[in-house]
Amino acid sequence: MSTQYEVRGRVAVITIDNPPVNGLSHATREGIVRDLGRALDDPGVDAIVLTGGAGFFSAGADIAEFGTPASGADPNLPQVIGTLEAASKPVVAAIDGTCFGGGLELALGAHYRVATAKSRLGLPEVNLGLVPGAGGTQRLPRVLGTRVAAEIMTSGDPRSARDLAAVDGQRLLDRVVDADAVDAAIAFAGEIANVRPLPRVRDLTAAAVPLDDLRAQLTKRARGLTAPLAALDLAERAATTPIDDGLAAERATFLELMGGDQSASLRHVFFAERAARRIPDIPSTTQARPIERVGVLGAGTMGGGIAMNFLNVGIPVTIVETAQDALDRGLGVIRRNYQIQVDRGRLTADALEQRMALLTPSLSYEDLANCDLIIEAVFEEMDVKRSVFTKLDQVARPGAVLATNTSTLDVDQIAAVTSRPGEVVGMHFFSPANVMRLLEVVRGKDTADDVLVTAMAIGQRIGKVGVVARICDGFIGNRMLAAYRDAAGDLLRSGSTPAEIDAAIEEFGFAMGPFKVGDLAGNDISWAIRKRRYAEHPDAPRDEITDALCEMGRFGQKTGAGWYDYEGRDAKPSPVVDELLASYWARHGVTRTTFDPEEIAQRLVFALVNSGAQILEEGIALRASDIDVVYLSGYGFPRHRGGPMFYADRFGLPRVVEELRRFHGPDWEPAPLLVRLAAENKTFN
Ligand code: NAD
Repeated sequence: MSTQYEVRGRVAVITIDNPPVNGLSHATREGIVRDLGRALDDPGVDAIVLTGGAGFFSAGADIAEFGTPASGADPNLPQVIGTLEAASKPVVAAIDGTCFGGGLELALGAHYRVATAKSRLGLPEVNLGLVPGAGGTQRLPRVLGTRVAAEIMTSGDPRSARDLAAVDGQRLLDRVVDADAVDAAIAFAGEIANVRPLPRVRDLTAAAVPLDDLRAQLTKRARGLTAPLAALDLAERAATTPIDDGLAAERATFLELMGGDQSASLRHVFFAERAARRIPDIPSTTQARPIERVGVLGAGTMGGGIAMNFLNVGIPVTIVETAQDALDRGLGVIRRNYQIQVDRGRLTADALEQRMALLTPSLSYEDLANCDLIIEAVFEEMDVKRSVFTKLDQVARPGAVLATNTSTLDVDQIAAVTSRPGEVVGMHFFSPANVMRLLEVVRGKDTADDVLVTAMAIGQRIGKVGVVARICDGFIGNRMLAAYRDAAGDLLRSGSTPAEIDAAIEEFGFAMGPFKVGDLAGNDISWAIRKRRYAEHPDAPRDEITDALCEMGRFGQKTGAGWYDYEGRDAKPSPVVDELLASYWARHGVTRTTFDPEEIAQRLVFALVNSGAQILEEGIALRASDIDVVYLSGYGFPRHRGGPMFYADRFGLPRVVEELRRFHGPDWEPAPLLVRLAAENKTFN
């Protein structure tokens, strides 16, 4: 399918028909040109309406075609748009619903545009590391003014037709309606059928306005991303150069970005998030169980955040605690979190009350009897979890999904205390659970297919990116994090400093380096885990430097001192820590060494890669791109680098192995899978 053609009265209607999102595939582009020719040749046709039907005009380029010969094959999108613009009869775009990227560029090639008020229009190319490549950067400023167009192009965020119609002096939308877009466009076409000359966006001019503030903002926020600034340059150019020069510049920029690392990485991320939804050994016809009511056990840090996810999408939640004060405290935190959103204008006071009304607090497990999914978020101790699941097994209705939010414990051991291990699954949220997008869905040895599918589906419904993991200590993310932290510790022991290490990895694109993260989360948390391990395994190697830091009570921001000294949230290198390190180095005969920042970043990132390779080989992760998704959505890995495994692929696995051996000495063995792929000159992804 590509397009459908019909004539209604004296108006030809061309409907783009390429489900699910009307992507502008090669066949679709051909269809539009063919149908347009037919309408122009038909003396019974006075005007043409181009539409995508109900719900979608077009979501833009067919990204499945990216990188294939079909994507650039004639007619390419600029040619299609040129044909529309040059048509001798008026073309009216009838927009209902999504009109993104190439879809909006196509609509800008029409002479007129009619849209339903709720339609959403935007140029999201920057999200894929690109700029619009079919005239969007030059035409949008001509109809919306340079500033608004620049905001839309550089953010990638869509806007509603209703909002765009209110932009001062706008020429984007000729009519905004609440009725059927095609009917409205046909009526409109009847009114303007004889108006000549035909208005063309290319003949308009855009006024030059200063955009320095936007540039400054972007430079700060875009953190190394090239596309948003390139889009801004092109918006400015729309106001200063003839359109054909602007279009040529746009095309050149588009092609350059398309060939670069950032866009390759961001496109990988796009596909990786979709791929993560597929579980190869489970038939795609497996139905998720319906979830209409959720139970949460424990109203602590995680339980409260987990509950909010469901309240946010209108799913009622029963939350159970052991004592009234803990319950009150938990509810208080949830309300306060919503209140912050109200104060920031992101939520109305009514919506806050509606969400709180969906929440039923309770001290009794019996109240979970009517829940379809129950998520446990109590203390991280096996005995506690097992006693909780024993009780849950007694009260939960048959068919309810029983999930644990454990970060480290063996889900199979928890499932084993129930009479229904097939219904038990891990749902590992990340803190703050109402904010972080990642959800590791942990598949136990007995977890039923439809239970796993249910956990993934509900994750998607609450806006999470779900990734399936098998059981191991730390699952995918935290196990890799341990390797990353070890690499940072190694650098400290080898003569580097927290400030140098943090700065290097922040330069790479992480929002925060490992030592600042430690100070934010509290160094006492990992200390408690280490102390438990030392007690259980007296021979376990000690983390001398971090232990000494904690013994001084330097737990981080909450104590005003950690790896850094704090004034408020401002981190300053600490003379106390300098002294601690100097004394460690002196004891161990290490000299203070300033490492090349690039080497620091590589040591940390390749530690992730090596650990990721082990995880992949052990079958803990289904595919390398899932590991990338975990790191991108849960651990702040820079999106424009595509995730650790993709980054390693681009870097070249033989070089990764070489560097790892150089960092660790020739006797150290990298993960066998990594060595094997490198030897065969293959990649992870
Ligand atoms: P928390 O101490 O903040 O909250 C635990 C809550 O569970 C407490 O309010 C406690 O009163 C309640 N509780 C204890 N036993 C209970 C029982 N039998 N029935 C009902 N409630 C009970 O802990 P948290 O940080 O929210 O962690 C909860 C779970 O989430 C742990 O398994 C933890 O490993 C996991 N987790 C934590 C994080 C994190 O960053 N904090 C991240 C991911 C997963």
